[in-house]
Amino acid sequence: MREDWAQIQREEFPVKERVFAMWSDRIAGRLKKLPPYLFAEIDKLKGELLAKGVDVIDLGVGDPDLPTPEHIVEALNRAARDPANHRYPSYSGMGDFKVSVAHWYKKRFGVELDPESEVVSLIGSKEGIAHIPLAFVDPGEIVIVPDPGYPVYQAGTVFAEGVPWFLPLREQRGFLPDLTEIPQEVARKAKMIFLNYPNNPTGATANLDFFRALVDWARHHEVMVCHDAAYTEISYDGYRAPSILEVEGAREVAIEFHSLSKTYNMTGWRVGFAVGNRELVSGLGRIKTNVDSGIFQAVQWAAMAALEGSQSCVEQNNRTYGERRDALIKGLRKAGLEVKPPKATFYVWAKVPKGQSSKEFASHLLSEAGIVTTPGVGFGSWGEGYIRMTLCAPLERIQEAVERILKLGP
Ligand code: PLP
Repeated sequence: MREDWAQIQREEFPVKERVFAMWSDRIAGRLKKLPPYLFAEIDKLKGELLAKGVDVIDLGVGDPDLPTPEHIVEALNRAARDPANHRYPSYSGMGDFKVSVAHWYKKRFGVELDPESEVVSLIGSKEGIAHIPLAFVDPGEIVIVPDPGYPVYQAGTVFAEGVPWFLPLREQRGFLPDLTEIPQEVARKAKMIFLNYPNNPTGATANLDFFRALVDWARHHEVMVCHDAAYTEISYDGYRAPSILEVEGAREVAIEFHSLSKTYNMTGWRVGFAVGNRELVSGLGRIKTNVDSGIFQAVQWAAMAALEGSQSCVEQNNRTYGERRDALIKGLRKAGLEVKPPKATFYVWAKVPKGQSSKEFASHLLSEAGIVTTPGVGFGSWGEGYIRMTLCAPLERIQEAVERILKLGP
């Protein structure tokens, strides 16, 4: 027994306090390396306002308010009653599920995949994104992470004892990175790059020319590309987001993460998949074999119903988000905020008024107008100067938010 522990034992504290004192002091270094939880202040303020009975409009979380389509729920219902689905599932996904993923990729992107070696099921794409560095990144190796970006790229890197190198996404370049900005030394030491288009939090999109340049860069420097494609299906005005795997040679270096969460309003179901380079898919699968036991088969049957069934529910979703987007953009512009309508995703990335930080402006909107938004700096230092608003609230609530912002004045 360690001395300090023995000493704590001797102190006359109730057992619970003793244990707390010991374990909170000994939290692993990897957790200490994560940035502080920047949304904590907003969450606290939101809790206080709700407790006071304030009518809070939450445009903070990227979680569809629309229900999962009925035919998907029905498929789950049926499958849940079948005892064949009650046992441990296969680690990498049911064969039928992986075939459905391959069909969907072919239909949607014209990309052929071998279901057995180029597809792995995920318990939501977040799980795969967090785990892939464990499969490929050794302690001290560099992982290039977009800034601003989805925080899990950094967390997964830190958990694998990798070193994140932040690649700025700037408005002047449409929030696409400038790959020539990555120093040779960094490119040489980098094992992996994460990118995400359509992008959270900026709503930016990438075209095939950008993906071609990225694949060339990655092949040249022998860096694996982890492309997070969670938002390809949420888009407006006829825009269709591409897959990086449409680019020739991408399969040599890339793995793409996908999710049913946003496309089919299934965030709570925890189902996604990764596809692409077979060695990357297999490495990720090996980590998963050791830490989880796959997805409940009934959920996989429901996911198959989603991927193979009519996609009119996706079109309907996009019409709904599109109306909300137009109302929010129009209102924010009227209020004098600088903002561009996103072509894809359900995020609106607005510039904060001059002289305020993103945290100050988000706090102001919450305390004075009861509107929850996310300060851009929570996604990285290049997110400073912006706030993110989601379209995951009914049109009337978005209109109400706009009215409150207009009343606030400049
Ligand atoms: N990638 C991005 C960019 C996201 O914004 C999210 C969720 O918000 C995810 C991945 C994870 O989604 P899920 O784990 O539900 O598939």
